[in-house]
Amino acid sequence: TTNHLRHVESMATMPSGAGKIPHLNAIILGEALASEENDLIFPSDDFSRQAHVPSPQKYLEMYKRSIEDPAGFWSDIASDFFWKQKWGQQVYFENLDVNKGDIRIEWFKGGITNICYNCLDRNVEAGLGDRIALYWEGNEPCLDGSLTYSQLLQKVCQLANYLKDIGVKKGDAVVVYLPMLMELPITMLACARIGALHSVVFAGFSAESVAQRIVDCKPKVVITCNAVKRGSKVIHLKDIVDAALIESARSGVCVEVCLTYINESALKRGSTKWEEGRDIWWQDVIPKYPTTCAVEWVDAEDPLFLLYTSGSTGKPKGVLHTTGGYMVYTATTFKYAFDYKPSDIYWCTADCGWITGHSYVTYGPLLNGTTVVIYEGAPNYPDPGRCWDIVDKYKVTIFYTAPTLVRSLMRDGDEYVKRYLRKSLRVLGSVGEPINPSAWRWFYNVVGDSRCPISDTWWQTETGGFMMTPLPGAWPQKPGSATFPFFGVQAVIVDEKGVEIEGECSGYLCIKNSWPGAFRTLYGDHERYETTYFKPFSGYYFSGDGCRRDEDGYHWLTGRVDDVINVSGHRIGTAEVESALVSHPQCAEAAVVGVEHEVKGQGIYAFVTLVEGVPYSEELRKSLILIVRKQIGAFAAPDRIHWAPGLPKTRSGKIMRRILRKIASKQLDELGDTSTLADPNVVDQLIALADK
Ligand code: ATP
Ligand code: MG
Repeated sequence: TTNHLRHVESMATMPSGAGKIPHLNAIILGEALASEENDLIFPSDDFSRQAHVPSPQKYLEMYKRSIEDPAGFWSDIASDFFWKQKWGQQVYFENLDVNKGDIRIEWFKGGITNICYNCLDRNVEAGLGDRIALYWEGNEPCLDGSLTYSQLLQKVCQLANYLKDIGVKKGDAVVVYLPMLMELPITMLACARIGALHSVVFAGFSAESVAQRIVDCKPKVVITCNAVKRGSKVIHLKDIVDAALIESARSGVCVEVCLTYINESALKRGSTKWEEGRDIWWQDVIPKYPTTCAVEWVDAEDPLFLLYTSGSTGKPKGVLHTTGGYMVYTATTFKYAFDYKPSDIYWCTADCGWITGHSYVTYGPLLNGTTVVIYEGAPNYPDPGRCWDIVDKYKVTIFYTAPTLVRSLMRDGDEYVKRYLRKSLRVLGSVGEPINPSAWRWFYNVVGDSRCPISDTWWQTETGGFMMTPLPGAWPQKPGSATFPFFGVQAVIVDEKGVEIEGECSGYLCIKNSWPGAFRTLYGDHERYETTYFKPFSGYYFSGDGCRRDEDGYHWLTGRVDDVINVSGHRIGTAEVESALVSHPQCAEAAVVGVEHEVKGQGIYAFVTLVEGVPYSEELRKSLILIVRKQIGAFAAPDRIHWAPGLPKTRSGKIMRRILRKIASKQLDELGDTSTLADPNVVDQLIALADK
């Protein structure tokens, strides 16, 4: 077919590093489709025809320019935004090499702009004032709301005026502890409007975590709400903030104002503790403020926000993003990775407490004038069909979620999905962890009815936006591969010595250049920034992730390099073994770690969660081991299968292998920092099942 030819031709001219297709003929003849490894899934011709990037050639042309002329490529795109004053002569500056001095990245310096203005005022002025900006769906299926671009702008201005009134100024930090109410993006945008930095703390963190973050950035005001309902549970957020404020005061940081939104559907106003002089009810004051507010114009390199990483690998890092480059990068990646069109209705299930909610609930979509759905509740409440109910209700066209949710809905069975039409869907997306090929297929075949390309977006809090992702419409996909780098990203794979390796290989994933959305420092600790990310391999940004490039140049994330297991000299990525286990029909989820092994150096220890109702048995244990032997090889066969009713996860849904490693090696007194764990009980359950 034409798609096949397009693919083949382009791969042959892929920029260096991607390699060439060694089995060209097999692909042309379609024989390559027969094997698991080369399972290519093509976008339909109809989809490709209408796409922003309709072919690999077009991608290559744009990619080539973005690498050869980054200044030209990015300033052309940046010109579509509103700048009070254009950036200086030099579009960007970068030093990624510790041997050449301090690490420094700057984009569009000297350019004067405001990201809130670009999200709202610019779109209203362009005639989109009456377009819905936010649809809000409450935890209870009967509760919802919406705001047009004009209405959102007014709400943002009211809050911005209040913040200015209480003395919040450009450069000040504001800590935000809110659930997925419209007030969360409103708060972020209001801070951006007046040049204040928001530091959003996911509203599931403990008082201690909130206190740590308050002490770190010393805000004048904390913004929260009285309570939220997730599923059938009511969580008293204001009580948690109260406790955090007592704790931070002990460390000498006194917050003057605690602005509290009353979330009536979760809890009535009278039932919350109150401190006169410090606590303010949102609804009592904000509506009194004017609905217009002058913008604080800032430099492209002025800070926009501070956000902590998920804490999958240890103590979270306070990542700092600046304004101009982040604005251009999130908007551009959003547009291309989801093939965004003005007719789209977009829903991302991430919470604004994570980077995904910053870049791809709030900024990226609103910069494009998108209609965004946000959902307050739990994805399986009142039943596992809720997501598809929401998709049908709002006619969602782009649905972006995480593998952990895909796996859990897959375990609940197809019936819940098939109850709903899902006809509006056209693009799906995944983020957070490698998506196992079997979960990918279920997402593609069952949820997307085999017609919606999946953008498996690899990126990090640090990168601000997508670094590697399929562009739907451009490439045939391979289930579980993040495919190719985004425009302007020189992704390379290096060996232990930091030497780039070409063609088919596996190693450490690094980035060779800066991109506009890159983080500029770790808040208050530039040295840790340099040590963690730029010292491991000089001259490169080191992602911490392992990656394999296959014979066709496709990239496969293999997990964190700290998690790589070395069995008798074979380096095995956790993701590969887990994917093999998850492809077993009775396995719902798996997490693999290495443990010391007398003979092999390291052995493979697998934690396995079974599909609801399946009993543990020796036979099943054997068939799980067998499926890994068959798919990867005997060397990767797990030495131990540990039954796991649940797995320890971060609050953003990622598996914490660090803790599993300690359980596997029975070092129970060394579990370390578990404050970012979603459900600490899981750990006890696992310990209890250790010898079963
Ligand atoms: P911490 O840095 O505190 O340990 P974290 O790395 O989990 O936490 P995030 O910035 O939220 O915090 O997550 C980025 C990481 O998530 C990536 O480095 C990668 O390991 C993983 N990841 C994200 N998206 C993908 C993807 N599409 N495929 C594979 N891995 C992904
Ligand atoms: Mg990380």
